[in-house]
Amino acid sequence: MLKIENVVAGYGHITALKSINLEVPQGSIVSLIGANGAGKSTTMRSIMGLVKPTEGRITFEGKDITSMKTHDIVKAGISLVPEGRQILQDMSVYENLEMGAYIRKDAEINDDIKKVFKRFPILDERSYQLGGTLSGGQQQMLAIGRALMARPKLLLLDEPSMGLAPLVVNEIFEVIKEISAEGTTVLLVEQNVRQALKIADYAYVLETGKIVLSGPAEEIRHDPRVMEAYLGGRVE
Ligand code: ATP
Repeated sequence: MLKIENVVAGYGHITALKSINLEVPQGSIVSLIGANGAGKSTTMRSIMGLVKPTEGRITFEGKDITSMKTHDIVKAGISLVPEGRQILQDMSVYENLEMGAYIRKDAEINDDIKKVFKRFPILDERSYQLGGTLSGGQQQMLAIGRALMARPKLLLLDEPSMGLAPLVVNEIFEVIKEISAEGTTVLLVEQNVRQALKIADYAYVLETGKIVLSGPAEEIRHDPRVMEAYLGGRVE
């Protein structure tokens, strides 16, 4: 569904991605793992057209999206839950969700907001509350809900578990599994490698701008290098 081929990208003279290749098959959960500064967010930004690759190609459903504008990429069916949630602090929960549908003009926007409220009842209870007053977990739910409002075929999640309490992390991972089971393809960037590899079908390991390992998540989970570097030496 998504194919990244030989992509080089960065910021000025900093090359954050040094020719990476990555594929996300339709219906799968693909996890991208790696340490701080490895280039995970830059990969997500490149897919969304927020960073322009200097080399290589990104295709989505066979269509070249490398030089497309972000709103056209969202229209094509890709939506990002950004690192740090980036919800609109001074807008209500409801308004944040409406913002997620900014590319749409159909009559079903309110129905979709109701669906988000069904998935996250706490957001329904707090629909008039300002985004900035929500807890971290609730803000993450709102960021996911907002991304779903664009009706994505492919959902990109950039470190959704960051800074959340363990119980809330479990809840977020359950939600990602549900979204996947309902038919949305998922690309998940995570530093919570243990949980990410449990729910993923495939995984890629990124180190200083290069993919150093890839394969079925179950294999990656048992790879001695991954166990040593990311799992504290044990799988469970
Ligand atoms: P993190 O988990 O810390 O976000 P990451 O794997 O997502 O890490 P990136 O944010 O993609 O890594 O960063 C890759 C490299 O690009 C790093 O060397 C980082 O310092 C650099 N970088 C990221 N954003 C910018 C920016 N806006 N301007 C300049 N350099 C940047």
